Amino acid sequence: MTARILIVEDEARLAGLLADYLAAAGYAADCLGDGDTVVPWVRANAPDLIVLDLMLPGRDGLEICREIRAFSRVPIIMATARAEEIDRLLGLELGADDYICKPYSPREVVARVKAVLRRSLAVPAPTAEGLVLDTAGFRVRSPHGEVELTAVEFHLFAALQREPGRIFSRAQLMDRIYDDQRVVSDRTIDSHVKKLRKKLAEVWPEGELIHSVYGAGYRYEADPAK
Ligand code: CA
Repeated sequence: MTARILIVEDEARLAGLLADYLAAAGYAADCLGDGDTVVPWVRANAPDLIVLDLMLPGRDGLEICREIRAFSRVPIIMATARAEEIDRLLGLELGADDYICKPYSPREVVARVKAVLRRSLAVPAPTAEGLVLDTAGFRVRSPHGEVELTAVEFHLFAALQREPGRIFSRAQLMDRIYDDQRVVSDRTIDSHVKKLRKKLAEVWPEGELIHSVYGAGYRYEADPAK
Protein backbone atom coordinates (compact mmCIF):
# COMPACT_ATOMS: atom_id res chain seq x y z
CA MET A 1 0.00 0.00 0.00
CA THR A 2 1.35 3.41 -0.97
CA ALA A 3 1.66 5.73 2.01
CA ARG A 4 0.01 9.11 1.47
CA ILE A 5 1.99 12.11 2.64
CA LEU A 6 0.42 15.54 3.08
CA ILE A 7 2.82 18.46 2.60
CA VAL A 8 1.61 21.65 4.23
CA GLU A 9 3.85 24.39 2.86
CA ASP A 10 3.00 27.85 1.53
CA GLU A 11 6.11 28.18 -0.65
CA ALA A 12 4.67 26.48 -3.71
CA ARG A 13 8.06 25.74 -5.32
CA LEU A 14 9.39 24.08 -2.20
CA ALA A 15 6.18 22.07 -1.79
CA GLY A 16 6.37 20.94 -5.41
CA LEU A 17 10.03 19.94 -5.10
CA LEU A 18 9.33 17.94 -1.95
CA ALA A 19 6.33 16.27 -3.59
CA ASP A 20 8.57 15.19 -6.50
CA TYR A 21 11.15 13.68 -4.15
CA LEU A 22 8.48 11.86 -2.15
CA ALA A 23 6.89 10.53 -5.33
CA ALA A 24 10.31 9.32 -6.50
CA ALA A 25 10.66 7.50 -3.16
CA GLY A 26 7.36 5.71 -3.80
CA TYR A 27 4.95 7.85 -1.77
CA ALA A 28 1.78 9.60 -2.89
CA ALA A 29 2.06 13.30 -2.02
CA ASP A 30 -0.58 16.02 -1.68
CA CYS A 31 0.17 19.70 -1.06
CA LEU A 32 -1.78 22.37 0.83
CA GLY A 33 -0.59 25.96 1.20
CA ASP A 34 -3.29 27.58 3.32
CA GLY A 35 -3.42 26.80 7.04
CA ASP A 36 -7.19 27.04 7.24
CA THR A 37 -7.75 24.19 4.79
CA VAL A 38 -5.58 21.62 6.58
CA VAL A 39 -7.74 20.23 9.41
CA PRO A 40 -10.85 19.59 7.27
CA TRP A 41 -8.64 18.00 4.60
CA VAL A 42 -7.00 15.69 7.13
CA ARG A 43 -10.40 14.68 8.53
CA ALA A 44 -11.67 13.87 5.05
CA ASN A 45 -8.57 12.16 3.63
CA ALA A 46 -6.73 10.62 6.60
CA PRO A 47 -3.14 10.86 5.26
CA ASP A 48 -0.46 8.52 6.65
CA LEU A 49 1.93 11.34 7.57
CA ILE A 50 2.00 15.15 7.52
CA VAL A 51 4.97 17.43 6.89
CA LEU A 52 3.72 20.61 8.53
CA ASP A 53 5.31 24.04 8.10
CA LEU A 54 5.07 26.27 11.17
CA MET A 55 4.50 29.64 9.49
CA LEU A 56 1.50 29.59 7.19
CA PRO A 57 -1.14 31.98 5.95
CA GLY A 58 -4.33 31.42 7.94
CA ARG A 59 -3.95 29.03 10.85
CA ASP A 60 -0.32 28.36 11.84
CA GLY A 61 1.36 24.98 12.32
CA LEU A 62 1.01 25.07 16.12
CA GLU A 63 -2.73 25.47 16.02
CA ILE A 64 -3.09 22.89 13.26
CA CYS A 65 -1.00 20.34 15.16
CA ARG A 66 -3.11 20.78 18.32
CA GLU A 67 -6.35 20.49 16.39
CA ILE A 68 -5.26 17.34 14.59
CA ARG A 69 -4.08 15.72 17.83
CA ALA A 70 -7.58 16.10 19.24
CA PHE A 71 -8.81 13.45 16.81
CA SER A 72 -5.83 11.68 15.24
CA ARG A 73 -2.42 10.18 15.99
CA VAL A 74 -1.24 10.61 12.38
CA PRO A 75 2.56 11.17 12.43
CA ILE A 76 3.49 14.84 12.05
CA ILE A 77 6.90 16.22 11.09
CA MET A 78 7.02 19.91 11.91
CA ALA A 79 9.19 22.21 9.78
CA THR A 80 10.45 25.53 11.06
CA ALA A 81 12.73 28.21 9.62
CA ARG A 82 14.46 28.81 12.95
CA ALA A 83 16.63 26.20 14.64
CA GLU A 84 16.19 27.89 18.04
CA GLU A 85 12.44 27.53 17.61
CA ILE A 86 12.70 23.75 17.88
CA ASP A 87 13.47 23.87 21.62
CA ARG A 88 10.43 26.02 22.24
CA LEU A 89 8.25 23.69 20.16
CA LEU A 90 9.53 20.65 22.07
CA GLY A 91 8.64 22.42 25.31
CA LEU A 92 5.08 22.91 24.14
CA GLU A 93 4.58 19.16 23.82
CA LEU A 94 2.45 19.49 20.74
CA GLY A 95 2.60 15.82 19.96
CA ALA A 96 4.62 16.23 16.75
CA ASP A 97 6.74 13.15 15.98
CA ASP A 98 9.78 14.96 14.62
CA TYR A 99 11.08 18.44 13.86
CA ILE A 100 13.09 19.60 10.89
CA CYS A 101 14.85 22.89 10.30
CA LYS A 102 14.49 24.94 7.11
CA PRO A 103 16.15 25.29 4.72
CA TYR A 104 16.14 21.51 4.44
CA SER A 105 17.16 19.28 1.60
CA PRO A 106 14.23 17.28 0.19
CA ARG A 107 16.44 14.22 0.54
CA GLU A 108 16.68 14.80 4.29
CA VAL A 109 12.90 15.16 4.58
CA VAL A 110 12.38 11.89 2.69
CA ALA A 111 14.77 10.16 5.12
CA ARG A 112 12.85 11.55 8.10
CA VAL A 113 9.52 10.53 6.56
CA LYS A 114 10.79 6.98 6.14
CA ALA A 115 12.06 6.82 9.73
CA VAL A 116 8.87 8.22 11.26
CA LEU A 117 6.64 5.94 9.17
CA ARG A 118 8.72 2.91 10.15
CA ARG A 119 8.18 3.76 13.82
CA SER A 120 4.48 4.45 13.43
CA LEU A 121 3.70 1.41 11.30
CA ALA A 122 5.29 -0.97 13.78
CA VAL A 123 2.42 -3.24 14.68
CA PRO A 124 1.46 -2.75 18.31
CA ALA A 125 1.91 -5.88 20.40
CA PRO A 126 -1.39 -7.38 21.46
CA THR A 127 -2.23 -7.50 25.16
CA ALA A 128 -2.26 -10.80 27.05
CA GLU A 129 -5.92 -11.13 26.09
CA GLY A 130 -5.23 -10.58 22.40
CA LEU A 131 -6.53 -7.01 22.25
CA VAL A 132 -4.70 -4.64 19.93
CA LEU A 133 -4.74 -0.94 20.73
CA ASP A 134 -4.41 0.95 17.46
CA THR A 135 -3.03 4.31 18.55
CA ALA A 136 -3.14 5.74 15.04
CA GLY A 137 -6.89 5.40 14.76
CA PHE A 138 -7.96 5.21 18.44
CA ARG A 139 -9.37 1.73 17.78
CA VAL A 140 -9.35 -1.49 19.76
CA ARG A 141 -9.32 -4.80 17.91
CA SER A 142 -9.93 -8.30 19.13
CA PRO A 143 -10.74 -11.61 17.42
CA HIS A 144 -14.40 -10.54 17.83
CA GLY A 145 -14.02 -7.35 15.83
CA GLU A 146 -13.04 -3.75 16.08
CA VAL A 147 -14.39 -0.73 17.91
CA GLU A 148 -13.63 2.95 17.47
CA LEU A 149 -13.10 5.04 20.60
CA THR A 150 -12.96 8.77 21.17
CA ALA A 151 -9.54 10.23 22.00
CA VAL A 152 -10.48 10.50 25.69
CA GLU A 153 -11.84 6.94 25.85
CA PHE A 154 -8.74 5.62 24.11
CA HIS A 155 -6.30 7.35 26.48
CA LEU A 156 -8.37 6.21 29.43
CA PHE A 157 -8.33 2.61 28.28
CA ALA A 158 -4.62 2.68 27.37
CA ALA A 159 -3.70 4.06 30.80
CA LEU A 160 -5.63 1.36 32.66
CA GLN A 161 -4.59 -1.44 30.35
CA ARG A 162 -0.86 -0.67 30.58
CA GLU A 163 -0.90 -1.67 34.24
CA PRO A 164 -3.35 -4.53 34.75
CA GLY A 165 -4.55 -4.88 38.33
CA ARG A 166 -3.40 -1.42 39.39
CA ILE A 167 -6.09 0.75 40.94
CA PHE A 168 -6.22 4.25 39.48
CA SER A 169 -8.03 7.05 41.27
CA ARG A 170 -10.22 9.30 39.14
CA ALA A 171 -7.72 12.14 39.62
CA GLN A 172 -4.88 9.95 38.31
CA LEU A 173 -6.94 9.03 35.28
CA MET A 174 -7.73 12.68 34.60
CA ASP A 175 -4.01 13.47 34.60
CA ARG A 176 -3.42 10.77 32.03
CA ILE A 177 -6.19 11.63 29.64
CA TYR A 178 -6.13 15.42 29.50
CA ASP A 179 -3.00 17.28 28.36
CA ASP A 180 -4.10 20.56 29.84
CA GLN A 181 -4.86 21.26 33.47
CA ARG A 182 -8.60 21.39 32.99
CA VAL A 183 -10.78 20.57 35.94
CA VAL A 184 -13.32 17.87 35.34
CA SER A 185 -15.59 16.27 37.87
CA ASP A 186 -15.43 12.66 39.01
CA ARG A 187 -18.74 12.16 37.27
CA THR A 188 -17.11 13.07 33.94
CA ILE A 189 -14.64 10.20 34.34
CA ASP A 190 -17.46 7.88 35.37
CA SER A 191 -19.45 8.76 32.29
CA HIS A 192 -16.41 8.16 30.02
CA VAL A 193 -15.88 4.79 31.71
CA LYS A 194 -19.52 3.91 31.18
CA LYS A 195 -19.33 4.64 27.45
CA LEU A 196 -15.98 2.88 27.17
CA ARG A 197 -17.34 -0.28 28.83
CA LYS A 198 -20.26 -0.34 26.45
CA LYS A 199 -17.93 -0.15 23.44
CA LEU A 200 -15.48 -2.71 24.83
CA ALA A 201 -18.32 -5.17 25.35
CA GLU A 202 -18.60 -5.34 21.54
CA VAL A 203 -15.05 -6.65 21.13
CA TRP A 204 -14.75 -8.41 24.49
CA PRO A 205 -18.00 -10.17 25.33
CA GLU A 206 -16.16 -12.47 27.78
CA GLY A 207 -16.79 -10.08 30.64
CA GLU A 208 -15.97 -6.72 32.16
CA LEU A 209 -12.45 -5.40 31.51
CA ILE A 210 -12.69 -2.27 33.62
CA HIS A 211 -13.67 -2.82 37.21
CA SER A 212 -14.95 -0.26 39.69
CA VAL A 213 -13.17 -0.33 43.01
CA TYR A 214 -15.53 1.06 45.60
CA GLY A 215 -14.30 4.34 47.09
CA ALA A 216 -11.02 4.16 45.14
CA GLY A 217 -11.38 4.25 41.38
CA TYR A 218 -10.91 1.80 38.55
CA ARG A 219 -8.66 -1.03 37.52
CA TYR A 220 -8.18 -3.15 34.40
CA GLU A 221 -8.33 -6.92 34.61
CA ALA A 222 -9.48 -9.37 31.98
CA ASP A 223 -10.10 -12.24 34.33
CA PRO A 224 -10.36 -11.20 37.98
CA ALA A 225 -11.21 -14.75 39.01
CA LYS A 226 -7.70 -15.92 38.19
CA1 CA B 1 5.94 29.07 5.58
